Amino acid sequence: MSIYLDNQAARPVDTRVVDEMLLYFNEKFANPASLHCDGDIATDILETSREKIAKFVNAPNPSDILFTSGATESNNLALIGAAMRQKKKGNHIIISEIEHISILNLGKYLERQGFRVSRVSVDRFGIIKLDKLEKLITDETILISISTASNEVGSLQPTAEISRIAREKGILFHTDAVASESVVPIDVQKVPIDLITLSSNDIYGPRGVGALYLKKGVRVNPIIIGGGQERGMRSGSENITGIVGFAKAAEIMKEEMPKESENLKKLRDKLIKNILETIPKSYLNGDPVKRLPHNAHFRFDYIEGESLILTLKEHNIAAATGSACSSKTLEASHTLIAMGLLHEEAHGSLLVSLGRTTRESDIDKLIEVLPNQVKRLRKLSPLTPPELLKKYDEVK
Ligand code: PMP
Repeated sequence: MSIYLDNQAARPVDTRVVDEMLLYFNEKFANPASLHCDGDIATDILETSREKIAKFVNAPNPSDILFTSGATESNNLALIGAAMRQKKKGNHIIISEIEHISILNLGKYLERQGFRVSRVSVDRFGIIKLDKLEKLITDETILISISTASNEVGSLQPTAEISRIAREKGILFHTDAVASESVVPIDVQKVPIDLITLSSNDIYGPRGVGALYLKKGVRVNPIIIGGGQERGMRSGSENITGIVGFAKAAEIMKEEMPKESENLKKLRDKLIKNILETIPKSYLNGDPVKRLPHNAHFRFDYIEGESLILTLKEHNIAAATGSACSSKTLEASHTLIAMGLLHEEAHGSLLVSLGRTTRESDIDKLIEVLPNQVKRLRKLSPLTPPELLKKYDEVK
């Protein structure tokens, strides 16, 4: 296994979660819809799991949680479901310019369905401009969807302020909390939010399961039609094994998050300090302070992020250039462009995302390897200015 520093793309399932799930593959495998005793056992575990996810976000009612197949589905249910439900009230939706690709593409989809979608701009640190958000709101606005944090550059968004603005205007507020759910506590009784997207894997649970939190009284039109499970809003037999794992992961995360994020922050800061000090013409993307404790997003002049990932691969280090969901396109990151970076600047990025299995020795290894690899690529790059090459030769 490599030195794994791509936790924002995928995370290992915690072994305590795997242990908890085992029983539900072939012993307690019944369908909660069945009326026999085994069905009752499945219903019990489904509802106990729902309680655990509700606790994770401090929701007063377990019924505020709907289980889905993951974050993409939760985002679809939130945006399409809320838009269709509120169609008679208005046809305007606000997202941000730096949303995850699933939200950006939902914006385009809703435009094709006749909705008007505005994209609020961000500052150079990747934080949305609240004054711009307020100006975009009209009498037709029915939904605001802005993530809790950028899944790329790690900037934390002013969720409490967005919630206040939305509430004052009587507009639904949805947030995709996937990027921050492992490091920033969610408390819907402190910061009221109408709809929240959650993912199991991003808190070390299994993939293929997620949830949508819906504040009491908020309803969405279903996007999957069938047997009427999950209060009629998400049909399909519940993935009990996955849900049990998700709930266990949430329970562990609630308990361990404060210590874990403190530790991640220390490792992240060590990495950022060392890289910016040792590599000339290197920069940190995103807000230096208001950022995810496990995210370090760098930019290096004169080289391509993809080449850097491949050289790190030779050293058995796994990192990314940006969001995994957009990594197959060679286009510059929409987030970096929205932050005002030039195309050539946006191409030289490295996203390092830490997690529960990251050790200090992993960070030390990256600190040891990265400066030499950046230097090697710069020596091959026609873009590197002669003064920098000369400097590199002098310190040989
Ligand atoms: N939202 C965010 C912020 C993400 O980072 C991701 C990918 N991990 C998703 C949504 C989509 O998640 P999934 O592919 O598990 O549906």
